[in-house]
Amino acid sequence: MHEIDRSESITVAGAGLVGSLLSLFLARRGFQVEVFERRPDMRRETVDAGRSINLAISARGLHALRQVGLEEEARRHAIPMRGRMIHPVSGALALQPYGKDDSQHINSISRAWLNKYLMTHAEETGRVRIRFRQRLQHVDFAAGTLSFLDEAGGATRQERAPVLMGTDGSGSVVRQEMTKLPGFSSNSELLSHGYKELTIPAGPGGSFRMEKNALHIWPRGAYMLIALPNEDGSFTCTLFLPFEGPVSFASLNSPGTLTAFFEEQFPDAVPLIPELTHDFFHNPTGTMVTVKGAPWHVGGRALLLGDAAHAIVPFFGQGMNCGFEDCVVLDSLLSRHTRWEDVFTEFFHLRKTNADAIADMAVENFIEMRDSTASPRFLLEKQVEKV
Ligand code: FAD
Repeated sequence: MHEIDRSESITVAGAGLVGSLLSLFLARRGFQVEVFERRPDMRRETVDAGRSINLAISARGLHALRQVGLEEEARRHAIPMRGRMIHPVSGALALQPYGKDDSQHINSISRAWLNKYLMTHAEETGRVRIRFRQRLQHVDFAAGTLSFLDEAGGATRQERAPVLMGTDGSGSVVRQEMTKLPGFSSNSELLSHGYKELTIPAGPGGSFRMEKNALHIWPRGAYMLIALPNEDGSFTCTLFLPFEGPVSFASLNSPGTLTAFFEEQFPDAVPLIPELTHDFFHNPTGTMVTVKGAPWHVGGRALLLGDAAHAIVPFFGQGMNCGFEDCVVLDSLLSRHTRWEDVFTEFFHLRKTNADAIADMAVENFIEMRDSTASPRFLLEKQVEKV
């Protein structure tokens, strides 16, 4: 049995949103935390912050930030979105409020800002050390060791990790290593749609060129465009489109076909996206995956959290929120148990059913969002914490 010993250091693989917040929670409980992150330090170098430029933080995510005293500052950098603004092909815009009054809203926040903010606060505890450009390659759970490729120098090194938290995202190496063990299973289902980010720049003087306090949706059946506001007055649009088919990433293969498609399907967005062709053909095409696996831990040695355990497609706006909730639950279990096995086992049981349910709801919400057949009343009656 592996007793919880606060003088033992905990290893965290991945300093994304969940790994950074988790480190902060662990530091507050008195642990020393060693974090290994594949990317360079985004506070010093310009690096791609990850999956999307901005994202929706909801009550779950804000509740987690509140536990570590970071909610207020995060709210100052977030833009409340009080409903979905539906853009039909022709005709008037229609706002579908998320709740009966303005207090029920979700918030658009910059992923890069939030990730940097969490890393800095974790380090400021004096108990968290983040080492960048360290790519985890292999885990030996029996020996409690990890091997990393130092992406700066090219050398491979071994580190001791008696307790490992895998927060290395949907393609998690920690999870891949776990599934080599008997009794572990993992299933990753790639969506047949991908996504592309496009920018609506700010208007004169940093003004917003559409309603600021809304999540904008252009629902079009097999595909969909959405836009979330940014602090600087711009919007980040995300075009969700099948990879293959009559209207797909494969078919929109020239500036002419792309422009004609946008003019026909998203006419009001065209004048707002001046760099449409450049953005579309230069920005990467993102993939979306649902990951379901079991169990999420190896005895009292290693645990998966966040997308590494339960990646979901983004249509419910809950992936990060759910990962933040993981941190709150783990933290509360640490106050009740004395052995890592007990913490990890209960964590898995508490979180697995919720994670699977939200994964399925996220896929269902994709169908609802892109078709937008639901009446506003129906939408009001459903959970408000959704995009
Ligand atoms: P990640 O953010 O993926 O972080 C993993 C970290 O691990 C990264 O820093 C990575 O560099 C590092 N890493 C990976 N492999 C290794 C390795 N081998 N060694 C060392 N480090 C490694 N969620 C919401 O709640 N609201 C939204 O509105 C929302 N919108 C989304 C929009 C899109 C288009 C997508 C794709 C996702 C969206 N999500 C949203 C989901 C959200 O992005 C994820 O749930 C969230 O990023 C999960 O955080 P994480 O820290 O678990 O994983």
